[in-house]
Amino acid sequence: MPAIRLHAIGQPPTLDAVPVPAPGPHDVRVAVRACGLCGSDVHLVHGVTPTGPLPLILGHEPSGVVDSVGEQVTDWSPGDRVCIAAGYGCGDCPACEAGRESICPRLEIPGITRDGSQAAYVVVPARSLIALPDRVDFATGAILMDAVSTPYHAIRRSGVQAGQTAVVFGLGGLGLHAMAILKQVVGAHVIGVDRYPGALARAPLFGADEVVDASNGKPASAIRMLTGGGADHTFEFVGSAAVADQAVKALRPGGTCTIVGVTPEPLRLLPQALLVDKELRVQGSFGCPKDELVELVGLVADGVLDLTGTITHRFPLENFDIALRVLETKAGDPIRVVIEQDE
Ligand SMILES: [Zn+2]
Ligand SMILES: [Zn+2]
Repeated sequence: MPAIRLHAIGQPPTLDAVPVPAPGPHDVRVAVRACGLCGSDVHLVHGVTPTGPLPLILGHEPSGVVDSVGEQVTDWSPGDRVCIAAGYGCGDCPACEAGRESICPRLEIPGITRDGSQAAYVVVPARSLIALPDRVDFATGAILMDAVSTPYHAIRRSGVQAGQTAVVFGLGGLGLHAMAILKQVVGAHVIGVDRYPGALARAPLFGADEVVDASNGKPASAIRMLTGGGADHTFEFVGSAAVADQAVKALRPGGTCTIVGVTPEPLRLLPQALLVDKELRVQGSFGCPKDELVELVGLVADGVLDLTGTITHRFPLENFDIALRVLETKAGDPIRVVIEQDE
């Protein structure tokens, strides 16, 4: 089967012919119909994100059709339309037992820690499948698994309520999806923050009620002014300690900052006394557990969340190299880039 494999860090991945994988007793083989690309794919190629053993088939944001099932699998059959959770836990540690498999210490992410879905077929444990209703197309189903679910989980963790003010820092794919969810699903008052004019210009189309230009590096004071003393919730999608610092400074007393962007830089926070006096909450959020993935697919299937317009580029598997270049160079202002495969 055709598969996009990374052979060496720093080298472009190549289109290879590899054997079709066979499912183990608890596994399912899925014929991939769509698989999103994201910043992590660029980071993997450049060695910023560590990978499992090479060569590695990329692709961690897939949807498709069940092709064959292992002998112990009873809840899925060939022909079922499915999405595949970006990661799956071990199934029996305290995190997994609490339904928080994205923080399982033995988390596997096909496409990062083991072979993924930029291929004709992928084999995954049956427990990582989520049913994809007919009324959600495969490309949308694919991006729900990471690019939309990562902000969804962050928003769920924050506890933001209808009518509260929520500020999204970083209006790339994840940030735009965060604004869409905050506006359409939560009913929050949404402020988008970015330093790029293009990102600020399109923000209102994805749910921003107001935008703040961060090109001076200090948007927190503008946000405090706009909100009359600070936001109830801030979300950091950039992966920068300086931005996280601004996101904390933009909070009102009692506010919560949820950090999603990843950086090795140490977090610089307010003086401890201010954190205490204002009872601020600062928390991380990673990935999305399965029960929330099921919820999210339901929100899209029921028409509560409309993501029209966020998939800007579609390519066949043979053109993965072009897709990766679009993402890396931002040529044509991509939001989500998806590889699609015909039946
Ligand atoms: Zn990703
Ligand atoms: Zn676990």
